[in-house]
Amino acid sequence: MKYSHVFLDGTPCHLPVGKVVCVGRNYAAHARELGNAVPDAPILFMKPATALVALADGFAIPADRGECHHETEITVLIGKTLKAASLAECRAAIAGVTLGLDLTLRDVQNELKKKGYPWEVAKAFDGAAPLAAFIAPEAFADFTDVDFSLSVNGVQRQSGHSADMITPVLELLLYISRIFTLEPGDVVMTGTPEGVAALKPGDRLLLEMPGLRAESLVR
Ligand code: ZN
Repeated sequence: MKYSHVFLDGTPCHLPVGKVVCVGRNYAAHARELGNAVPDAPILFMKPATALVALADGFAIPADRGECHHETEITVLIGKTLKAASLAECRAAIAGVTLGLDLTLRDVQNELKKKGYPWEVAKAFDGAAPLAAFIAPEAFADFTDVDFSLSVNGVQRQSGHSADMITPVLELLLYISRIFTLEPGDVVMTGTPEGVAALKPGDRLLLEMPGLRAESLVR
């Protein structure tokens, strides 16, 4: 099914579907679990719009390409153009907040990292960014005080709090906007806490944050 942005409460979303800007190693404990150094500036990469799928529809993972890991991430929908923006402009441009999965072919990524190659083959494939429905930003008084979790088959795998981000949400948008213009309908995935692990067909997922309880199935 073709992806479009939707709001949890059924409010129509007229934003187009744009690019996905992601940040790597934004939680120190996750950087350490993969044996990576904690970066001194955000590590950015992108997924194309074709990576987006609705979490609620369930999603397929590539077969025979090694482990496909879940990375559960607070995800922000951009509603206004941000180019070299101020923090206030970044705050005003957030049109929605939800959770998404930055699906990662970990074995493929490890090979790419070893060779010094870009990560897109491991991270930007079709369906590599399943997203839950968005919640209006007014529901979040403080983007640095959001907890969230992922359970797989009833067992909690990841649990994070946005206060543990190395670069917080608004500062991250500010930084990104100096490099890539963020346009209405773009999405920013803000990095994963520790606990990443492989998914397999048949896994039942539950992603939770305040105001959101999103179920999904790996097909
Ligand atoms: Zn990620």
